[in-house]
Amino acid sequence: MSQWVVKGLRTGVKTTNYPRLPDTAPGLSCGLPATTDLRGEHAQALVARCPTGALSVGRRGIEVDQRRCIHCLRCRRGVNQQLAWEARYEWARVTDKSNRHDNRFGAAFRRSAHILVVDAGDCGACLNEVKQLNNPYYNMHRLGFFLTPTPRHADVMLVVGAVTEHMRLALRKAYDAMPTPKRVVAAGACALFGGVFGPSFTCGGGVAQAVPVDVEVPGNPPPPLAILHGLLVAAGQRQPASSCG
Ligand code: SF4
Repeated sequence: MSQWVVKGLRTGVKTTNYPRLPDTAPGLSCGLPATTDLRGEHAQALVARCPTGALSVGRRGIEVDQRRCIHCLRCRRGVNQQLAWEARYEWARVTDKSNRHDNRFGAAFRRSAHILVVDAGDCGACLNEVKQLNNPYYNMHRLGFFLTPTPRHADVMLVVGAVTEHMRLALRKAYDAMPTPKRVVAAGACALFGGVFGPSFTCGGGVAQAVPVDVEVPGNPPPPLAILHGLLVAAGQRQPASSCG
């Protein structure tokens, strides 16, 4: 018998209570840097250390574009003054271009939505986190989310990776083949802006350059609960994060 089944019988249900209750188990989220009231030389030094331009000095001190953070931790380690760090995991936000208002998901989608996962040039990290959504701890089936291999049956397209040139047309065709209403969730820094790979001669600047994106999930990679939050936001079952930084 599977060890998971044996363990389940011995210890009881281990599935997370999220989104009914917040999940506070240790190690669920690597967190994200947050806007910090730091100024002067220290602030300039921290901004210069960020390899992706996620940090800038603004009205509130060091301001963070969390979409661009790749979790390199250069603003946390080996510095005199660290950037503040927030440990929550509800990171998904709705894009300005989202079609959610003129193309609403009906009530039926609250009970069942089929998801097409597209690897558009992922290194494996984000895809691995997506894979966890099907394990007994996250168990996305209990929320009505099911995977489908065909765009014809998909309500939500979940895209990871920076969208390589070879994947651009395939992504567009898959999007066009999906019935309406439909949503696109881009997960991970590469899917949001190209990450450390793009724009370059092999890939562009993320999913939005190929298809319209409704929900963005920052992180490099985002933890499973952040991706789950993104799916819940896309299906209209959860509020998006209020800001990104
Ligand atoms: S952890 Fe994020 S914000 Fe900090 S330096 Fe690295 S990429 Fe920049």
